[in-house]
Amino acid sequence: MKLQSEEAEEPPSRPLAAHQLLPNTHRPINLLTPAAAPGLGSGLGVLAARTERFPVGPRTRAFRKRFFPHVDPAQWNDWRWQARSRIRSLEELSRIFELSDDERDAVARHQGSLPLGITPYYASLMSREDALEPLRRTHIPVGSEYLKTPGEADDPLGEDGHSAVPGLVHRYPDRVLFLATGFCSTYCRYCTRSRMVGEAGGDYSFSRPQWEDALNYIADNPQIRDVLISGGDPLTLSDERLDYLLGRLRRIPHVEFVRLGTKVPVVLPMRITRSLIRVLKKHHPLWMSLHFTHPAELSPEVTEAVTRLADAGIPLGSQTVLLKGVNDSVETLKTLYHGLLMRRVRPYYLYQCDPITGSSHFRTSIDKGLEIMQGLRGHTTGYAVPTYVIDAPGGGGKIPLLPDYVVGREGEDLILRNFEGNTYRYNDPQGVVGADRPLDRGEG
Ligand code: SF4
Repeated sequence: MKLQSEEAEEPPSRPLAAHQLLPNTHRPINLLTPAAAPGLGSGLGVLAARTERFPVGPRTRAFRKRFFPHVDPAQWNDWRWQARSRIRSLEELSRIFELSDDERDAVARHQGSLPLGITPYYASLMSREDALEPLRRTHIPVGSEYLKTPGEADDPLGEDGHSAVPGLVHRYPDRVLFLATGFCSTYCRYCTRSRMVGEAGGDYSFSRPQWEDALNYIADNPQIRDVLISGGDPLTLSDERLDYLLGRLRRIPHVEFVRLGTKVPVVLPMRITRSLIRVLKKHHPLWMSLHFTHPAELSPEVTEAVTRLADAGIPLGSQTVLLKGVNDSVETLKTLYHGLLMRRVRPYYLYQCDPITGSSHFRTSIDKGLEIMQGLRGHTTGYAVPTYVIDAPGGGGKIPLLPDYVVGREGEDLILRNFEGNTYRYNDPQGVVGADRPLDRGEG
């Protein structure tokens, strides 16, 4: 007999039509698997949680039934259960995945920060058999993670050197990075903050006194108008703690702009509960940067999560790290970016992979990044084209990289190349741009 909750139907907030969903990645949104989300608190919160519904995609539902047969849909869609039940050991991995020798050895020798951690939901999107499948590559360690190549460092962006107080990076005059927690629901193997994330904690405590020091520093420095809350992943904090942090920041008069940087809507989408939405809406204007990697992440669950956030009036941007063998092609990124636009998420940055220790197997050449940008700009909607940046090692900040569209100058004319490779003249009598380029007389 089916569970009652499996028979009930509940549409997601605003379903996309079948033709709007991505081909070959996921079928149309499943309407059949709602679930309560217990454990969110007491009183009215519990009542709201019990009546909450969340879609479950067909691939994920099949995975749950196979690998978590004793877990009912309500429990599966409880974000706290997902966080508690992360896959964290070789034994748990082996139960689900056919591991390669490389993966097995790498997991067995792992110690310290950046532990293994994958939510059961996110694991359901990965290939069980193929060790080279993109999402799997980003979350299951391999031996290359233990290689340190020239130019790599544990803190390549020099964040620790720019810490005003522990947990608060003050690199630009008017902006700060507030590291609210060291916890993530999944751990990306290319994480820029791999030195500090994970249960181990190490030198980074993320304690309440540390929060207070950071808040006091922001309050004492009126030039700070922009606070990015990151970590770790701030959406793994409880509603109450987030409410407290956002409320404290909102009471500082000179703080105009608050952003949350998070991967939770992608790897733990059921965390975007109605209760959380109510908390976030209290603290507008609030913006969010979401960490997407690949079109396979655009599941019905993720569609529901970002729809709730967008409906709450939160502008959503996406940050993607360019990763070799994962998303380093025009077609893959174009598919991801089109899917994000359909879900009201604006592709914002494409990052060159930071030279974090043990990440060389993920890093592409800069030429590859520029080639991809050239393949996007002019070939799709401008909103679907992010800014490609290098976060300069040592704390130099983000430096944008663009394919070169300036051919040269001829007298008062600037000679430009368009996305199709055709050249055009633009009369620019006061300019000097391009004057240093020897011009092929045949141009134009
Ligand atoms: S979610 Fe962000 S902070 Fe957490 S491991 Fe991934 S990249 Fe690092």
